[in-house]
Amino acid sequence: MVSKVLCGNVYGLTAQIVAVEADVQSGLPGFEMGGSLSSEVREARERVRVALKNSGFAIRPQHVTINISPANTPKGGTAFDLAIAVGTLAANGLVEEAGLEESLIMGELSLDGSIHAVRGILPCIVKAKEMGLKRCIVPYDNAFEGAVIDGIDVYGAVSLKNVADFLNGKADSLEKVSHVDYANIAKAALKEEHSDKENIDFADVCGQESAVRASMIAAAGGHNILYMGAPGSGKTMMAKRIAGILPGLSLKESLEVSEIYSIAGLLDNTAGLITRPPYRSPHHTITLKALIGGGKVPNPGEITLANRGVLFLDELTEFKTATLDAMRQPLEDGRVTLSRCSNTYVFPAHFMLVAAMNPCKCGFYPDKNRCTCTESEVKRYKARISRPLMDRFDLCIYVSTVKYNDFSDSDKGKKGRTDTEDIRRRVAAARQIQHDRGILNAELTKEEIKEYCRLGNAEKALLEKVFEKLSLTARGYYKILKVARTIADMEESRSITERHIKEAVTYRV
Ligand SMILES: [Zn+2]
Repeated sequence: MVSKVLCGNVYGLTAQIVAVEADVQSGLPGFEMGGSLSSEVREARERVRVALKNSGFAIRPQHVTINISPANTPKGGTAFDLAIAVGTLAANGLVEEAGLEESLIMGELSLDGSIHAVRGILPCIVKAKEMGLKRCIVPYDNAFEGAVIDGIDVYGAVSLKNVADFLNGKADSLEKVSHVDYANIAKAALKEEHSDKENIDFADVCGQESAVRASMIAAAGGHNILYMGAPGSGKTMMAKRIAGILPGLSLKESLEVSEIYSIAGLLDNTAGLITRPPYRSPHHTITLKALIGGGKVPNPGEITLANRGVLFLDELTEFKTATLDAMRQPLEDGRVTLSRCSNTYVFPAHFMLVAAMNPCKCGFYPDKNRCTCTESEVKRYKARISRPLMDRFDLCIYVSTVKYNDFSDSDKGKKGRTDTEDIRRRVAAARQIQHDRGILNAELTKEEIKEYCRLGNAEKALLEKVFEKLSLTARGYYKILKVARTIADMEESRSITERHIKEAVTYRV
């Protein structure tokens, strides 16, 4: 007798609904599995056999054949265990088949029959809904991932026995997840972030008005920003605060980000979804594979985990040149393409690149009293970052060393300095203007720049002068316009004025 159970499969970042077919025959006992399975999936055989026994199901020795179709997509992970066990039970007539064709069943089994969390539940629930399935039975520890998905019932399961009872009509064997509005999750997450304000408030950044302003512009337009400055000048501190001033994610963005985190096994189940822009800060020893994404069936790298958020690279010059240069295309396209055998995987990588570096080896250039480097050493140090990568930064800001006065100011209280709440409001207002226009300033194409960054004659003349004086590349020229657009948006000014351009130019030095 053959039974069929629907299960979710994730390869790359793609979720698909697959059918786990189970056939049992009397005869020589055995357990065969097929359908482009990784060794991890094949190990399900032992887990399922023992879990069935320990859950109290008396199954006579028999020959079991499992096929997971379609066979042409690679299958990995442990999420098929539960579906294989249920399929085996159904083929033996121990579980009713009615309802199986409209249920997604996923989970890893432990030898005692309990069900463990797996990766990729969220995208599979979304896919199941798209396919018109009625309900999902998933590990209890993952069930909350489905809480915002409307129109499909999600049940959390703790043991194989409970699942079998449920399928046999005991409706109260599994707990149904109650639906939660996205707005409520987002509100709770923001509240939690604010309670953490001590750690992320710009008010803690002393005496760096111009750098704080640059950070605000970067966040408002989604621009890549590079901080240069001596050790201890607070550049890392500022970079870390950028994610905190970005507006929250829309439901669509949140699902995109949360699906990636669900697949990477990084989604915090108590929160359900990620509602704030992600912040990733890999160490400079990171491999190219971990940054860009890699593996036989590729896993998302840091640039994809930072999608719709911030990727912070501290001590930029310490990263391997090849690793950094691999980011150039994704920075341009907002996605990364990875080719494996016959498959091509495209991962989103819409992130804001925030980086920090010392201006020279000793860190004190251009302070002639403290810098011990020669001019050529300074040049060589900066050359560690290739020109094309340098060109990807819309803003470059020199962070000066904090003076004593700035520190003593902070003792008088945080009055007078810009705080995060105020910055966040201004960033959100500028973002709203861009939202209405339909595109983020950092992502404007040449054609869109022509449309949205129109200049008067005086502005044109100014920019021409700058172009020659700084011997700008075409890319550099457009970056100035994009940043000027953001500065104008922050002032709710429709036109870009000379003042906006002048300020934008200061961030290109
Ligand atoms: Zn130096």
